[in-house]
Amino acid sequence: MKEYSAPIDEEQLTARIREIGFSCTMCGECCRPGAGDDNLVMVSPGEIRRISSLCHLRAEECAEPYPEHVKLSDGTEVTFGWAVRRVAGDCIFYRDGSCQVYAERPWICRTYPFMLDGEDLLTSPCPGLGRPIGWEEARAMARALRARRAAEEEEGEKIRRAISARLPREKGCLVIDGEGVTRV
Ligand code: SF4
Repeated sequence: MKEYSAPIDEEQLTARIREIGFSCTMCGECCRPGAGDDNLVMVSPGEIRRISSLCHLRAEECAEPYPEHVKLSDGTEVTFGWAVRRVAGDCIFYRDGSCQVYAERPWICRTYPFMLDGEDLLTSPCPGLGRPIGWEEARAMARALRARRAAEEEEGEKIRRAISARLPREKGCLVIDGEGVTRV
């Protein structure tokens, strides 16, 4: 992942995205595991609901528990959130070269290959980087990045609150997300 230091107000972020350049080549590489990157797409409960309603699938058919688990001292396993379900590493919604849930694709997909880490703009490897991007498109990406960061911060805060509350002591794995605890 490449890092660009950037003061992140919308105008400056738009200008930075213009300088870096990006245009999607429709290669689908971000929907499949790439070299050294599993391209896992984390999703919030709200995103799962929207995708589920769009494609008429149950929530558990759209998303799976985030695969990295932590074992607590009493043996309870926990994980923090959900990822879009995959089959043989590919996102289940990537079919025939396109995204089947494009209108409701998660923030990570909307903003790929960019992400904000605090005030820093990061990019993931992508063949679309370096291609010309217009002001309006760059501004839309800047807005999406800022909205994504706000949504992730809010979800993170809710997860921290859920962790600090007493967790149920149950066998199996607990998924802690911004809406509470689910046993899977
Ligand atoms: S949800 Fe759509 S854009 Fe995101 S990884 Fe899956 S197929 Fe690709």
